[in-house]
Amino acid sequence: QLHGKAALVTGSTSGIGLGIARKLAAQGADLMLNGFGDPTHIADLCGALSDEFGVRVDHNGADMSKPEQIEAMVAATEAEFGRLDILVNNAGIQHVAPVDAFPVERWDAVIAINLSAVFHGTRAALPGMKTRGWGRIINIASVHGLVASVNKAAYVAAKHGVIGLTKVTALETAESNITCNAICPGWVLTPLVQKQIDALAESKGLSVEEAGRELLSEKQPSKSFVTPDQLGELAVFLCSEAAGNMRGAALTMDGGWTAQ
Ligand code: NAD
Repeated sequence: QLHGKAALVTGSTSGIGLGIARKLAAQGADLMLNGFGDPTHIADLCGALSDEFGVRVDHNGADMSKPEQIEAMVAATEAEFGRLDILVNNAGIQHVAPVDAFPVERWDAVIAINLSAVFHGTRAALPGMKTRGWGRIINIASVHGLVASVNKAAYVAAKHGVIGLTKVTALETAESNITCNAICPGWVLTPLVQKQIDALAESKGLSVEEAGRELLSEKQPSKSFVTPDQLGELAVFLCSEAAGNMRGAALTMDGGWTAQ
């Protein structure tokens, strides 16, 4: 379905981004991965994806908190694959603290990586998509783009901002074959969430399994984690022609979190 197309997935050396990258590669898209990690591990990942799916896979180590590195990564992707058709703005970080104790430096980092990077990636990728007349921009927001939780001021503000930016991008491209939509996952068991589970286990004297169950039961009615594979399949759908007139949507996959 995506043969001949090229995708850039930010923050795809781990977690949800990697799950989405795998599903796009499985449909035949060439891939530019991005994110931090051990260089040998990343090189192995590129090789494994390329071997498994017969697509071209490379990695760009741009720091998503640096606008000029994001611009250079988009340019490098277009130079290497001759195109950039699918941009998945996924990279994200979390910091947990009450508003009046929130470290200013962490606020700035969360806003830069979770919100401003979406703007910088989008503005860099759109001109080429317009020239080629086709594009898909998929922003990984969160249930926290729709509702709030305590102690997540920067994250909730950034994710609400991502949903707003998704709508503006969708409106500005509404008469074209370029679409922009947001995906809003609930809890997904990735390193980002494992840290929160470990902190809960520590603070309440629970085992890691008990803390995981408690985390889910507080917010997620399904009491099971959403998986990177499930989110990847949703991203593949958004890349299909069937989704060609879905524009500016914020699609939840959250085990019922926001139905409550
Ligand atoms: P993760 O920690 O497993 O992966 C984050 C990825 O982003 C990694 O590849 C990491 O190297 C990369 N990254 C972090 N900072 C970066 C930077 N400055 N520059 C470049 N790359 C950077 O996290 P995840 O849980 O897979 O989260 C991915 C996205 O999904 C985030 O936007 C997150 O907010 C969102 N999300 C996650 C959950 C969840 O429950 N895990 C729920 C809703 C939304």
